[in-house]
Amino acid sequence: MRADPLYGECEETRQAFTSWLRTTRIPQVRYIAFLTAALYLLYAVIEQAVAADSSSLRLLAHAVLVPGLLLSVAAMSFRTRFQPPMWALLTVAPVVANAANLGLNAGSPQFLVFAPEIYLSIMWTFAISGLALRQAVIAATAIVALVIVAASYAPLEPGLQQLHLFWVLAAFSFGCLSAFVLEKAYKHTFLQQRQLARSAQTDELTSLWNRAHIEQLFEEERARNERYGQPFSVILIDVDHFKAVNDTWGHSTGDAVLRQFAELLRQNLRKVDAIGRIGGEEFFVLLPQTDVAQAQAAARDLQSRINAFDFDTAGRRTASFGVTEYRPGERMVDTFDRADRALYAAKKNGRNRIEVR
Ligand code: GH3
Ligand code: MG
Ligand code: MG
Repeated sequence: MRADPLYGECEETRQAFTSWLRTTRIPQVRYIAFLTAALYLLYAVIEQAVAADSSSLRLLAHAVLVPGLLLSVAAMSFRTRFQPPMWALLTVAPVVANAANLGLNAGSPQFLVFAPEIYLSIMWTFAISGLALRQAVIAATAIVALVIVAASYAPLEPGLQQLHLFWVLAAFSFGCLSAFVLEKAYKHTFLQQRQLARSAQTDELTSLWNRAHIEQLFEEERARNERYGQPFSVILIDVDHFKAVNDTWGHSTGDAVLRQFAELLRQNLRKVDAIGRIGGEEFFVLLPQTDVAQAQAAARDLQSRINAFDFDTAGRRTASFGVTEYRPGERMVDTFDRADRALYAAKKNGRNRIEVR
């Protein structure tokens, strides 16, 4: 299994993963921020009884500054537009907490009593906070840099110094590994979900949209029409005498014809047009921002491409077309029915024809 399940995926997919991961983790961030703020308040109370110096600075750091940052994170998590700065604040919060710790305790004989906050917060940053691996690495590296600066300005006794740095290293490596493994699992879940969503929308044989998805796209187009008044049209296409293909050359030749037919549609329509297979040898095209005359022209173009194409084994085939424009205010079934009637007329009038309704 690859270290990065998204290896080889395009930039768009990576960005989609990043935003999916962020959305997925919002509740975690919120709960953790509340819990950690509460624990810092408790810590502030206990610390007042333990530390003999800088009691008001300690109170400021552990009862106001750090809980304040964390409560802001929790509050911002409720509003989508505050979420980008929320992630930045969440990255900064553990660095600020450690800067306060080192500022208050580095060089003091009691330093090692307060050092567990450093080890724990490195683990917290990686494995608990809800930060993505990259942000967690940035925050934890900043914490380690602060630790090293503090160690060079106010070193502990040699053996203790090594022991302290060992615990920092252990926290960083455990944390980094668990964040890495977690992110990998999230990437897998993301890709699987996307795959599932895709296969629920596509027709297996041709990879065109399936009926359910075409209906959804139609409804979206209808909503756009209601809002902006843009026209759109549909083309219903049915391969002529397709049963004869199956009967003459077998079902697998029939399947190959359907796949090639789908490819012809794909290649000869615009990127914005949605193409679906809605039944055995029946196809549906949704043409946004297209009136009926333009849709008819598109159908003519398709017809000549199909007529000129040599299908494997089955040779030349034809198709019949029913074209119609959506009429504002009507239901989807009305448009579909009209396209169906047009297609029926095309069949009745001799096939390899385009009828408009
Ligand atoms: P018409 O010109 O009136 O449309 O005649 P037709 O023979 O194309 O239409 P008909 O509805 O009589 O037959 C459609 C055939 O399509 C029957 C069915 O077995 C076949 N079919 C449906 N789905 C598939 C499929 O996925 N693969 C294959 N190979 N055949 C299919
Ligand atoms: Mg047919
Ligand atoms: Mg049919």
